[in-house]
Amino acid sequence: MSEWVRPDGSWASSAGVRRSMQGNRGRDTKPELALRRLLHARGLRYRVDMRPVRGLRRKADIVFTRQRVCVFVDGCFWHGCSAHGTVPSTNRPYWSEKIEGNTRRDRETDKRLADEGWTVVRFWEHDDAGAAADAVEALIRAARGDRPRAAEQTRPGQA
Ligand SMILES: [Zn+2]
Repeated sequence: MSEWVRPDGSWASSAGVRRSMQGNRGRDTKPELALRRLLHARGLRYRVDMRPVRGLRRKADIVFTRQRVCVFVDGCFWHGCSAHGTVPSTNRPYWSEKIEGNTRRDRETDKRLADEGWTVVRFWEHDDAGAAADAVEALIRAARGDRPRAAEQTRPGQA
């Protein structure tokens, strides 16, 4: 345990790993920005990178406060995507523990937010942004009690 490599140590020896981590770390990642742009274009308004629940030290990427919906765009590397979340062969125990810790924390965050009455939606960074926007839009419209679009289009004209 005490032998774990510190983050400022040799862990970034692989350029590929370093790139992957930089690409996935923190806020305003490309996939998140793409989703935000689509949601905005559809007239949805939201808060970004905020703590939905007072006193709960967990931030969500995209937050619809009125509808109590939190959206996360999880990086494949950091959050252990089964398709792309390969653990680097260098310092594997360090990374395994790190990523497992992240996923544990994610599940705990989901539960804490749900306990507070929030709906939590998670996407992977590899998910199609358009499909993700569709899902979020449907959720928000349902939460607002909006009439479904299809019904609007087929609504018969009334005198
Ligand atoms: Zn992935």
